[in-house]
Amino acid sequence: MSESLLKWIRPEIRALTAYHVADASDMIKLDAMENPYQLTDKAKLNWQQQITAAELNRYPDPACAALKDVLHKLVKPPANTSMILGNGSDELIQMIAMAVCAQDRCIMSFDPGFVMYRMIAEFVGMQYVGVSLNNEFDIDLDQTLDAIAQHQPAVIFIAYPNNPTANCFNKAAIETIIQKSPGIVVVDEAYHPFAQDSFMPMLADYENLLVMRTVSKMGLAGLRLGFMCGQPFLVNEIDKVRLPYNINVLTQQAAQAILSNTEVLDQQASVIREQRELMLQRLAQFDGVEVFSSQANFILFRLLQHDAGAVFNALKQQGVLIKHMNASSGLLQNCLRVTVGTPEENDMFQRALYTSMQAVNNI
Ligand SMILES: *Cc1c(COP(=O)(O)O)cnc(C)c1O
Repeated sequence: MSESLLKWIRPEIRALTAYHVADASDMIKLDAMENPYQLTDKAKLNWQQQITAAELNRYPDPACAALKDVLHKLVKPPANTSMILGNGSDELIQMIAMAVCAQDRCIMSFDPGFVMYRMIAEFVGMQYVGVSLNNEFDIDLDQTLDAIAQHQPAVIFIAYPNNPTANCFNKAAIETIIQKSPGIVVVDEAYHPFAQDSFMPMLADYENLLVMRTVSKMGLAGLRLGFMCGQPFLVNEIDKVRLPYNINVLTQQAAQAILSNTEVLDQQASVIREQRELMLQRLAQFDGVEVFSSQANFILFRLLQHDAGAVFNALKQQGVLIKHMNASSGLLQNCLRVTVGTPEENDMFQRALYTSMQAVNNI
């Protein structure tokens, strides 16, 4: 290891550990909020025909005009707003951070919250301020307004619903935050298909608001496509840091074909919402499990009598992969997070959870 070379890597990057994605081969995969369903054969054929026509020798349309038309029809943002696309919403978060970053500025969000906000703040050399949620996993408005006044954040990210807690924060509190923020407020609606509530209409009222969505959780995680709407003067500035061809030809063509008719995806989301309600009821009947409400396609729960790490490992041994929140204290203490899968997967998870809790000693 050559220290003379590594000195060129920024110290804050060297201090990071790389984002770890668990190996899930041959597992029932309930760790990453994916939609468990495939498209129908007919819908598959449709996008396959579309990408057959794609010209791979040409650069993609940098403006993604045709795809944006389809997204506009689907999302119906208010008039006089603009849209920007990202290689997943992760890339949109990165673009926002690059557009605002300066050493004495911070990005604010809530803890527990989506890890990517903190990671990307660190990537671009900004400070991250995580305001603690209250015991109901909701926004503590007084504390948040104090933090805003003190830190003057360039951007506040608000996931609605929140990951990993699965709830939607109080909407009036979010609106107050938008009104009181000196900088940009991004409402991240990655789980919109499962919450069916949105800040999109408020774009007409607030010039500092951006609303972000993604196709990942609705069943197209492999495509890597996120989109964000806001008033043109702001979107245009963020668009300057976008790499010109960030949405590749295959993604553009496939997304256009699939999102022109979302009947299949809508039906799948509706089944997932029903399964979520069933799973919430069943988990609530487990002895020693505290389950939290969910408006997303995943459920956070706490083990009261067993070590979450031990149960997580026992589940893995039985071929079921969920997410261990790895918290020995704080709001996520001894918590696990499970994605809602197919009815069969959910049954298998519940049975495996039961036997795992039997097998692991009480704490
Ligand atoms: C999963 C998730 C995203 C990431 O979406 P991609 O479009 O796949 O990059 C963004 N925000 C939240 C809160 C998420 O949970």
